[in-house]
Amino acid sequence: MQHTTRIVLKSGKEHSVLRRHPWVFSGAIARVDGEVHNGDVVEVVNNKGEFLAYGHAAEGSISVRLFGFEQIAPNREFWKNKLAVAYALRRKWGIIDNPQTNIYRLIHAEGDGMPGLVVDVYGNTAVIQTHSVGMHEMRGVLAELLVEVVGVKAVYNKSAEKLEKNSGQRSTDEYLIGSRGESICREHGALYSIDWETGQKTGFFIDQRENRHLLGELAKGKKVLNTFCYTGGFSICALQGGAVLAHSLDSSQKALELTEENLKLNGFDPAIHKTIKADAVQYLKNLEVDYDIIVLDPPAFAKHLSARHQAIQAYTRINEAAIRQIKPGGLIFTFSCSQVVDRNLFAGTVMAAAIQAKRDVRIIQRLQQPGDHPVSIFHPEGEYLKGLVIEIL
Ligand code: SAH
Repeated sequence: MQHTTRIVLKSGKEHSVLRRHPWVFSGAIARVDGEVHNGDVVEVVNNKGEFLAYGHAAEGSISVRLFGFEQIAPNREFWKNKLAVAYALRRKWGIIDNPQTNIYRLIHAEGDGMPGLVVDVYGNTAVIQTHSVGMHEMRGVLAELLVEVVGVKAVYNKSAEKLEKNSGQRSTDEYLIGSRGESICREHGALYSIDWETGQKTGFFIDQRENRHLLGELAKGKKVLNTFCYTGGFSICALQGGAVLAHSLDSSQKALELTEENLKLNGFDPAIHKTIKADAVQYLKNLEVDYDIIVLDPPAFAKHLSARHQAIQAYTRINEAAIRQIKPGGLIFTFSCSQVVDRNLFAGTVMAAAIQAKRDVRIIQRLQQPGDHPVSIFHPEGEYLKGLVIEIL
């Protein structure tokens, strides 16, 4: 058997691993038996040398990202089985062979027992985004396995930006298998042109699928403002659901062009849709249209704990402006995708905004990421998307 470097934990530091929390912090390590490089597969043992888990060594405060809690060698079969388990969950969840939707997340990092890896599927193409050197080094094998398990025709590696930010390691965005194929995909029956090569994230905010769909169900006869629209998904769902008007706002020209393209693809009457290039808060402060529904889906303002305070202020500003301006009886779909802003903190932030706006606000529904973005119960940090539908009286 191949010799694997062993990471020996300090006495008492094995508890979180026994509970299947997928991270080992540097402070938990007593010593390393052997040589270790960033990305190596290592065995984590307790201070008596007993096996606890397999993981990828990393640099920084998280020293090992764990992917296996049983003593099963992480060979090709092991990884193939992981992908098959993840694929089976998506099938159970109804998004495989679904005539309405062929866009979904296949691997959601820790939520699928594969820390450092995200895989999104767009029709016949899988897009891999690695956040750790260990997963990045496996991209070739993973690409082959994606073809075997999912049957995709192409696999695109979109790791350069994330990987460099997370680990300093360089990567080239490229096709690992196949080439650019059909990029028009479906979500709940609507068509989207997906640009995984140059778009944000892997090209699309898949995590908002069910929340966009809910908006569609409430939109009949309504006037909708979709701020932070990116590819225009909330607007398209609103129009699909019978909205009489949808305005899509973003500060990025590219985003507005993508929105226009997607609107055309779905054949909506251009007279009932408009794109607006503006800063969301500025536009909301000078609101002139009596919208019935406003969507607030800003980017993750706080990517780290250190930025949380500023992020809260930014969320408060946006929510306050929308709550102040929306007509009585209007609904706001408000979101935060910052992992460090938890559900309670977010609700508290919206409450602070309501106090400042001096309006009466009721929570109608709480929203979250969908089933193809699962959260390991041992790793609550995996829950990042939270939203509220609020009514403003
Ligand atoms: N709601 C989208 C995803 C939003 S991503 C969806 O369903 O797909 C966040 C978007 O906010 C990006 O497109 C970014 O360009 C835009 N953005 C960032 N800061 C902004 C600001 N101050 N005003 C308006 N848009 C902004």
